[in-house]
Amino acid sequence: MTKKLDKDLSEPVAIPQSGIDRANDIMQSGRLFRYGEFSAGESEVAALERDFAAYMSSSYAAALNSCGSAMFVALKSAGVVFGDEVLVNAFTLAPVPGAIEHAGAKPIFVDCDANYCVSLQDLESKARGGARVFLMSHMRGHIADMDVVTRICADNNILLIEDCAHTLGASWNGRLSGSFGHIACFSLQSFKHINAGEGGMLISNDADVAAKAILYSGSYMLYAQNGARPSLEIFEKYRNDIPNFSMRMHELTAAVARPQIGLLAERSAQWRASYEVLAELLKKVTGVSVPDRACDEAFVPSSIQFSVTDLATTEFPAFINACKAAGVDIKWFGAPQAVGFTSTLNHWNYINNKQSVKETISILDHLCDIRIPQSLTVQDCTDIVQVIEQALAK
Ligand SMILES: *Cc1c(COP(=O)(O)O)cnc(C)c1O
Repeated sequence: MTKKLDKDLSEPVAIPQSGIDRANDIMQSGRLFRYGEFSAGESEVAALERDFAAYMSSSYAAALNSCGSAMFVALKSAGVVFGDEVLVNAFTLAPVPGAIEHAGAKPIFVDCDANYCVSLQDLESKARGGARVFLMSHMRGHIADMDVVTRICADNNILLIEDCAHTLGASWNGRLSGSFGHIACFSLQSFKHINAGEGGMLISNDADVAAKAILYSGSYMLYAQNGARPSLEIFEKYRNDIPNFSMRMHELTAAVARPQIGLLAERSAQWRASYEVLAELLKKVTGVSVPDRACDEAFVPSSIQFSVTDLATTEFPAFINACKAAGVDIKWFGAPQAVGFTSTLNHWNYINNKQSVKETISILDHLCDIRIPQSLTVQDCTDIVQVIEQALAK
């Protein structure tokens, strides 16, 4: 009998009851906008900024409507102007080059290594090319050696912005991902580690960057109500020179996100347990390879990536379809046309995507990804790998 998986791999995490109750109270009051004019107390968004900054041990935090907006605002706040070059991982998600384009800058793609991290060798060489900023995407939660990355950035006077969309709660050598860069950005989109539907957080210890980011986010002149902001004098320097981009966070977003900060450790452990089972089983399948993870990397795997090295690109569609028919939705990064979340630099024709990143292209051609819902059981893991084996055998 053919194996089938009985589980929706796209299932998001539920919102904790306290978040639902808080959202209801906010709807009752009608105060859905983060800024109040007269009688408002602390907004839910300000409280989220405060809690998030505390969780990250960061001086400042600004809430935005997505991680893509946070990255755009981070680039602007870092002083990126039209025509600047920005280093970025070649293996990344569409909103990342999107944020660079939005800021009027040009991406310089840095190659990928065999473990799906940024290639330190390629970074070392491209860091000498004159770019002042590296927007580092910890794509799908794979964290490169941060000691080397920060050393390369320091040596070349490059400002590091971390894209932590998939590393909230993860750490490198005991230090939280997002605490290495000058600025870090996080996503609260449903498939990341805190599910608020949409949302983004930006953190920094630089008071000037934080004030600029808050002004760009669209604080009007009500920034005194922000929850983790620098002193008001800092805003005086910029308040007449920075446009309002209206990328604020909604009160309901903050209400559902806030109680999830305290659940990150528990969720991490659950994802990690499923990942270990899947990785061990997948490693035993002929023609499948799972990357080595550094022992310094405390990763939070809300998904698993592996390479199917035995298949030619032309054989992938049949493999993907066979898995799908058996209930296992595999995302493949090698498709000639952009599909769902897996568009790659091959598809981003609005920028110069004909750059030499050979390793990335050959990795993407064989790279597969499966989401790990929190409710996945050991039996589900076994079923998933059996479905894959079955599809490969055909
Ligand atoms: C999801 C994601 C983003 C963007 O997040 P949004 O909140 O959807 O804008 C950025 N980078 C990576 C690596 C992501 O996975």
